[in-house]
Amino acid sequence: MRARTFVGMGSNIDQPLGHVRDALLQLAALPSTRLVAESSFYASLPVGPRNQPDYVNAVAELNTALAPLVLLAHLQRIERRHGRVRIQRWGRRTLDLDLLLFDTRIISHPRLRVPHPCMHLRMFVLAPLSELDPEVLIPGKGKAGMLLDRLQRRHEPTVHKLMPPTGNRN
Ligand code: ATP
Ligand code: MG
Ligand code: MG
Repeated sequence: MRARTFVGMGSNIDQPLGHVRDALLQLAALPSTRLVAESSFYASLPVGPRNQPDYVNAVAELNTALAPLVLLAHLQRIERRHGRVRIQRWGRRTLDLDLLLFDTRIISHPRLRVPHPCMHLRMFVLAPLSELDPEVLIPGKGKAGMLLDRLQRRHEPTVHKLMPPTGNRN
């Protein structure tokens, strides 16, 4: 059984665009996994501590035969390869890879919660995700495009498109 999954990517130090671009290549190279689509690159204001640079964000769609926790372990290995260190919650980072969706599964595990708990409240997730598929369902919350519209009606924009996708698909 293969799953349709989405990975949210973020970086705000040390040449963020380069980290996100490299991470896309590393996702494309994961075993039993295909990079199906990648969103444009977006710039976003930081969540949490404000005294940090703006972020570069993107979302990747994967088709994978890996189990959710195995995929998470790969994502964390890629983060470590990019020198990710956790100093402050939501603080600056070279690379953050969050598993957003895994088909329509709901996973509640000490190391993994899917759908990613905050994704439906974050423009920097919903904007790139809706670009890939506005109809994709966030279980328990609704469709990505509808959730983005709702957020945009209520709040100032915190995200804008930086550049089109790099075309790494295989
Ligand atoms: P946020 O999760 O609010 O975006 P963050 O991405 O900065 O914050 P991390 O430091 O990257 O948080 O992750 C902290 C822990 O979250 C990890 O150890 C991981 O096990 C756990 N985790 C739970 N659910 C997920 C998920 N869906 N994707 C990635 N990590 C998750
Ligand atoms: Mg995160
Ligand atoms: Mg994370």
